[in-house]
Amino acid sequence: MRVNQQAKEKMLENLKQQVYKASLKLVEQGLVIYTWGNVSAIDRESGLVVIKPSGISYEEMVPADMVVVDLSGNIISGDLKPSSDTNTHLILYQNFPLIGSIMHSHSEYASCWAQAGLGIPPLGITHANFFNGEIPCTKPLSAKQMEGDIETETGKIIVETFRSAKLDPMRIPGVLVYGHGPFCWGKEVRDAFDHTVVLEKVARMAYRTRQLNPVKAVEKKFLDRYFFD
Ligand SMILES: [Zn+2]
Repeated sequence: MRVNQQAKEKMLENLKQQVYKASLKLVEQGLVIYTWGNVSAIDRESGLVVIKPSGISYEEMVPADMVVVDLSGNIISGDLKPSSDTNTHLILYQNFPLIGSIMHSHSEYASCWAQAGLGIPPLGITHANFFNGEIPCTKPLSAKQMEGDIETETGKIIVETFRSAKLDPMRIPGVLVYGHGPFCWGKEVRDAFDHTVVLEKVARMAYRTRQLNPVKAVEKKFLDRYFFD
């Protein structure tokens, strides 16, 4: 029993380090400015989620500040409040059982597509290597949804976007939330990070490509040929 407890704590310490480092790397990459971003990771065995705290600057933050919550949002440990987007992360972990990490940013080009209410069309190999189709944009939240807990409703509308279009979240590891920005995920922190970086890159490339020539999305065959599972 004691060994299990020690293993669990070690796992959480490891995830805290990873979540902390990825948070700083998103800033380094210019994908996050001010506090408009967050990172989390889950230990599926214990069902505990490690998430970046809110209300603290990146300069002051240390790994021990990462907050641990359970899948219902109860705080298990941490002195600070968990990220304001925690409920969105929890809905995604509850509904996409294979994902192990989630990142959110307001990266510039991805947010432009989100504000335009458009998914990012797959126009070439850079996109096809990581996303096996269009990166969808959610519908706007309804007036009724806006009255509820916005972060929970945001999570639900992401899940609904994937269910209604029969999309596999492991093959399309990211989404644009209408009028907001991207959420990306992956099996592990490093995958979610790569998807966040690549999503912004393909958002910029698609924007520029369409300016040069309003080409159509590539075919399914092309997408499948270049997708690295
Ligand atoms: Zn946001």
